[in-house]
Amino acid sequence: MKLVVKLDSVTKLYGNFTAVNKVDLQVGEGEILGLIGPNGAGKTTTLKMMVGLVAPTAGTVQVMGQDMSGDSTRLRQSIGYLPEESPLYENMTVRQYLAFFAELYGLGRSVAAPRIESLLQSLKLAERNKYTGELSKGMKRKVAIARTLLHDPSLLVLDEPSSGLDPLTSFFVIDYLKKLNAQGKTIVLSAHNLFHVEYICHRVAIIKNGTLVICDTMAAIREKLGTREYEVVFRANADLPYEKHSGGYVFRTGDVSEIAELLQDIATQDWTLLDLAVRQSALEDMYVKLMGETE
Ligand code: ATP
Repeated sequence: MKLVVKLDSVTKLYGNFTAVNKVDLQVGEGEILGLIGPNGAGKTTTLKMMVGLVAPTAGTVQVMGQDMSGDSTRLRQSIGYLPEESPLYENMTVRQYLAFFAELYGLGRSVAAPRIESLLQSLKLAERNKYTGELSKGMKRKVAIARTLLHDPSLLVLDEPSSGLDPLTSFFVIDYLKKLNAQGKTIVLSAHNLFHVEYICHRVAIIKNGTLVICDTMAAIREKLGTREYEVVFRANADLPYEKHSGGYVFRTGDVSEIAELLQDIATQDWTLLDLAVRQSALEDMYVKLMGETE
């Protein structure tokens, strides 16, 4: 497999404080790698080093075979980076904002206009003529994601792409990333929602106190721990063959893709999602165990 990202013994110190400690990490072409870990573990710092925004104190970061410490200007055109927080220029409409960034990326109008249109459509951003300052949190995040994709990068580095969004919007975003990956994009993302990570990531890296605790495939993690159950509680204006539960329905399964299908139904049928609980997923089990062991 062709490597897109390669970190070799990467360390980052802020003064005397070690934020990232000798991390080795590889991401193959077409892969989705999820980075999880507690607050302050070093996820954002690691992602910033991948995109050349932070220089490592020691070790090397290579993207598409090139060292990020050299002149990485051209390389950066192949990377789409979504920061954890992305303030927008509030007095521009969504369309103006994206057109402005398309110009910054050096895209000609004939390329930019259809690309903006298709991003707005695929992200279901109907409010294209609204000022970005007037948008809801979920819509703002979608605009930031559209900006990340404008120049059609082959590598996406996304810092908590769905954080702070309601369950359906965040699931829409995660599912959208899955589609982008099916179209060939390599994705590295950080997240706190383990259900999302388990649903889309091929491999998961767990980081704690700047140190990589484990990096393995979901299949390997499942093999070790077995799958657990997920539960969706929802209200629907239809008679459905699910167990009834406090005025709604409850559906439990160990198969994440069945949950994904039901969430899609809930969205398209305009039903109400009341709760989405992970009854100890394989990943959650492992996460809790590892965090305890390395305390
Ligand atoms: P979260 O889940 O809360 O976003 P994180 O895993 O992304 O956390 P980082 O933002 O990478 O963690 O931070 C790792 C550690 O480095 C933290 O202790 C943080 O306080 C510290 N740190 C990050 N940026 C700086 C900086 N510019 N100067 C000093 N310390 C920093």
